[in-house]
Amino acid sequence: MKNDWNKRTRAVHSGIRRSQYGEVSEAIFLTQGFVYDTAEDAEARFLEAGPDEFIYARYGNPTVSMFEQRIAALEGAEDAFATASGMAAVTGALTSMLKAGDHVVSAGALFGSCLYVLEEVLTRFGVEVSFVDGSDLDQWRAALRPETRAVFFESISNPTLQVVDIAGVSALAHDVGATVIVDNVFATPVWSDAIAQGADVVVYSATKHIDGQGRALGGVILGTREFIRKTVEPYMKHTGGSMSPFTAWVMLKGLETMDLRVRAQTANAQEIAEALSGHEKLARVIYPGLADHPQAELVRRQMGKGGTVLSIDLAGGKEAAFRFLNALEVAIISNNLGDAKTILTHPATTTHQRLPQDQKDALGITPGLVRISCGIEDSQDLTRDMLAALARA
Ligand SMILES: *Cc1c(COP(=O)(O)O)cnc(C)c1O
Repeated sequence: MKNDWNKRTRAVHSGIRRSQYGEVSEAIFLTQGFVYDTAEDAEARFLEAGPDEFIYARYGNPTVSMFEQRIAALEGAEDAFATASGMAAVTGALTSMLKAGDHVVSAGALFGSCLYVLEEVLTRFGVEVSFVDGSDLDQWRAALRPETRAVFFESISNPTLQVVDIAGVSALAHDVGATVIVDNVFATPVWSDAIAQGADVVVYSATKHIDGQGRALGGVILGTREFIRKTVEPYMKHTGGSMSPFTAWVMLKGLETMDLRVRAQTANAQEIAEALSGHEKLARVIYPGLADHPQAELVRRQMGKGGTVLSIDLAGGKEAAFRFLNALEVAIISNNLGDAKTILTHPATTTHQRLPQDQKDALGITPGLVRISCGIEDSQDLTRDMLAALARA
């Protein structure tokens, strides 16, 4: 990579390894193993593999390595490890570095599976987890202790789009020597510079904006070379959550167009949020790019734009939300996000169904709440679709 390349150039060219054929499009090395010329070569490679030497696809693969190097360059991270899914990245980042007796502080407003890992999995292995309101720096300050090893949060929470101050939380965490792990899915690599803002480790579900076309599950952990190669890689390569070469190829091609898609999706989200604001059937419209978002100033400073997702709360509760969803003709009902297609989700009955009512209340997951992940369709078609569906709600 040339050091002066901007993000959009890095997303297209960084990390490429061309074979002897000089192919334009990245090759898919769909192989789980690699041949050694001699037994001595095998021995030497197991002792220490060079940058162009691979052993077994669970450890690494040329196509996967291209994806890792491209996303690391894009994100401004020293290195990256690609994983089988976003949850493999979240779980791997945490469990590779934690041990019994450690303390973790986490934001409470999390993607359902992240909450499960922190609440149900880590605690089973003797890690103590404290939850705080991620938007309240005083709560972070109060919860951090000398034995806090890691803090975890989504820079924009799902589905209520609360924004966490990456620089502020990182400064507090670093005071006690804790590692800052940020799940940056909603902010996207396009709008967030989490590492430059203080995060030590960034995780993505590549399933979302990086693929962005609903094809493959994947994830990635980004951090210092030391953390990725000494802590994450040994854990991931032996526990089995590595990315497949075919997925890595899908994600490489996804990275090439991600910037265009995310900009178009963000423009659509902004336009729809503005069009729906103040609608008589809605109790609230939550979008980080609206001036009335409680953290609008932080959004401007941290991301510049509001991202690709908004949430609306139908005043008529679950019945109204279901009538609205069922009346849509362009947008679809599903639970992915970051896709080229506009996707709507009813969190209370799907992604967050298993949460007890008091936790739903605390997180603002009301019966009328609908999450809208904006796609790249024509904004007028989308706005007309939503307004017509609201009229029937
Ligand atoms: C989707 C998502 C994940 C999990 O990613 P998968 O690829 O589905 O495993 C983790 N965190 C956030 C914020 C997500 O949106």
